[in-house]
Amino acid sequence: MADLTLTQVKKSYGKVDIIKGVDLSIKHGEFIVFVGPSGCGKSTLLRMIAGLEDITSGTIKIGEKVVNDLQPKDRSIAMVFQSYALFPHMTVGENVGFGLKIAGEPKESMEKKVAEAARILKLEPLLDRKPSQLSGGQRQRVAIGRAIVRKPDVFLFDEPLSNLDAALRVNTRAEIAKLHRDLSATMVYVTHDQVEAMTLADRIAVLDSGYVRQFGAPMDLYHYPDNTFVAGFIGSPKMNFIPVTAAGAGNGSGVSVVGSGLAKVQAAVDASGVVKDQKLTLGIRPEHVRISQDGKGALVGTVQLLERLGNQTFLEVVTATGVSTTALIEGDLVLDIGDKVGINFAATDCHLFDEKGEAFARPRTAAKPRKKVA
Ligand code: ADP
Ligand code: MG
Repeated sequence: MADLTLTQVKKSYGKVDIIKGVDLSIKHGEFIVFVGPSGCGKSTLLRMIAGLEDITSGTIKIGEKVVNDLQPKDRSIAMVFQSYALFPHMTVGENVGFGLKIAGEPKESMEKKVAEAARILKLEPLLDRKPSQLSGGQRQRVAIGRAIVRKPDVFLFDEPLSNLDAALRVNTRAEIAKLHRDLSATMVYVTHDQVEAMTLADRIAVLDSGYVRQFGAPMDLYHYPDNTFVAGFIGSPKMNFIPVTAAGAGNGSGVSVVGSGLAKVQAAVDASGVVKDQKLTLGIRPEHVRISQDGKGALVGTVQLLERLGNQTFLEVVTATGVSTTALIEGDLVLDIGDKVGINFAATDCHLFDEKGEAFARPRTAAKPRKKVA
């Protein structure tokens, strides 16, 4: 049982600051995902928690214990890497038990723990094989098995699915989610894939250039992103951003905005303090764009790209002034490339950001309640 607490954790290599002051408070049993683009510092932060990398300043606590100066083996953590890092000359069983063996675990209890991990991960038929005789997914399960037998307080995963093909990724993702439920252990999982982050996490930390831009539940990040970075990173296809100016002063319930080729749109956000002509960015998710085939709307443009996915239609509409908007519409639309369409936005679907990219608060009712099925 252990919480994991990071306080003003920083990392520099020489003069280059990589992690610029991270505060995170992770509760025992939570599944936390660090997500962000390649190079933003996810692995560095995870490796600092593991003790594989010194921290330049700040504090890392596991439970009540400051672990800054503890060796990795003394931190009660286990790490699973993208590259599996299995010993090629050892069998699956030997690989899974290796950490216990070098820690001096008696043979009988070691075998029991290996058998238990093999059962959880369905590795029993494979225990006598060598890693070269396994598929990528099986190798990753062995690497996870090696972590499980150590019964750590905290599991750390660094992009464990990146080397797997798409179907296996989905499978293994579900297995990791189940493992988390079964073991009720704290897990910190690094990925650049926002879908993995959304599907696995209790809470997501979105990292950008060594900063945590937002830390929250997946649906909170989706409905209430704090800034343009998080708004653009979470959700697929990506949120549309349209440069606009305030048509008048804002108030607590909203503001009207206009833009190039964009007729007046009302954004239902807390726009207190917004002044007329203030430069802003309007954000609208593709799934919230409303297309009208009569060619009337806040934006009017022509269809430049059309992809029929069966259940959904993905399209890109470009206005005469060059504003491009992507839309994801349910069903199979009767539309063609070159058709003139109108685009409308519901006030409550609008996101609004200031010049620094910080979001104006949306009313908490913006998140529609989960749909019920009959
Ligand atoms: P991510 O896992 O998010 O892709 P990393 O944590 O691996 O990113 O790297 C973050 C940044 O730190 C990158 O710009 C990388 O080049 C730099 N970096 C990582 N390790 C070192 C090192 N040992 N020396 C200098 N720079 C490093
Ligand atoms: Mg990495």
